[in-house]
Amino acid sequence: MRALQLTDPGVIEIRDVPVPEIGPSDLLIRVGAAGICHSDLHLLHFPVKMREEPLTIGHEIAGTIEAVGSEVDVRQVGERGLVYLCWSCGVCRECISGNENVCLAAGRTAMPPCPGLGPDGGMAEYVRIPARSFVPIGDLDFLQAAPMADAALTSYHAIRGAKEHLRPGSTAVVIGIGGLGHVAVQILRALSATRIVAVDLGQDQLDLAKRCGADITLESGPDTARQILELTGGRGAEAVFDFVGVDPTAQMAVQSVAPNGAYRMVGLGGGVPGVTADPAGGPGWPWGASVRKSYGGTRSDLVDSIALAQAGRLTVEVDRFDLNDAREAFDRLEAGKIRGRAVLVP
Ligand code: NAD
Ligand code: ZN
Repeated sequence: MRALQLTDPGVIEIRDVPVPEIGPSDLLIRVGAAGICHSDLHLLHFPVKMREEPLTIGHEIAGTIEAVGSEVDVRQVGERGLVYLCWSCGVCRECISGNENVCLAAGRTAMPPCPGLGPDGGMAEYVRIPARSFVPIGDLDFLQAAPMADAALTSYHAIRGAKEHLRPGSTAVVIGIGGLGHVAVQILRALSATRIVAVDLGQDQLDLAKRCGADITLESGPDTARQILELTGGRGAEAVFDFVGVDPTAQMAVQSVAPNGAYRMVGLGGGVPGVTADPAGGPGWPWGASVRKSYGGTRSDLVDSIALAQAGRLTVEVDRFDLNDAREAFDRLEAGKIRGRAVLVP
């Protein structure tokens, strides 16, 4: 089968590899679509090898069950679904409480195993998955379903965790209107009556944010925090969702979040000292502000996200590429030329 593999730091190529063999508690999935997350770009630029043998990347996966392990009795060949990406232990204190995205087996700072980041992922014709990671999607289109596995899951989790801050009359800021951010705007719109301010560097992204339901759009820059304060009568925004995660955006958050407000850092843009101190040397976080480094989401967040899509309340702006054209898709994402989510079809 064809698979997009990371062979060395910075090197991805389509290679011909064997179809994966499955164990007794696994499923073999025929991939219908696989989204390209910005995390895949971070992975591509990671300076050291993730593992010795080439790694098939891709953690946003939707497809059809092709084969069922001998001990799996609840799934059938032909079922359509997507892959829950937190391949957690399922038995630690956090997992049994439903917080599989912060599985303790992974340790204090690591994340649970994730397809395409250790085990082989879904930018291929087939992928092996643990049967318990399969989540049905009904008749949802694969191109829409694949981004639910991360872009929607992760956004939904960050927003649900800040729900007490999203009251009518409050303001939520979404920084970075890419694959995750444009989905986050729609989730905010669907779950709350809060005013939504979208922030990005590009006009195309800001136009997309408007179509997704943002009330106000702002170009990202040194003046953005001041503009947010002006829009909120000097109070600041009750919630700031950062889908970039670099110093300038953390600084923007420090300077624009309201007292008692919430900062949710989802973007992994490369280290944010501003999460604990104001990098500009200013007064830092206002009293009562809560800061959370948000990873992935729970199964229930995923089920809710799929339901929003099925109800027509969440539509991913998809840029479709053939798996063979993955390199072009990565280059375009890197250049900031993807609107919404790039999705590969094998
Ligand atoms: P993307 O490339 O699709 O979108 C990023 C957007 O941010 C683009 O629209 C870009 O124009 C904008 N942007 C870049 N710099 C900016 C700035 N200074 N100010 C405002 N906007 C800016 O990326 P994505 O796939 O949506 O992922 C976003 C981030 O979230 C990445 O860092 C990714 O690794 C991370 N991520 C984290 C998790 C998690 O669980 N924590 C999950 C998925 C993705
Ligand atoms: Zn991702």
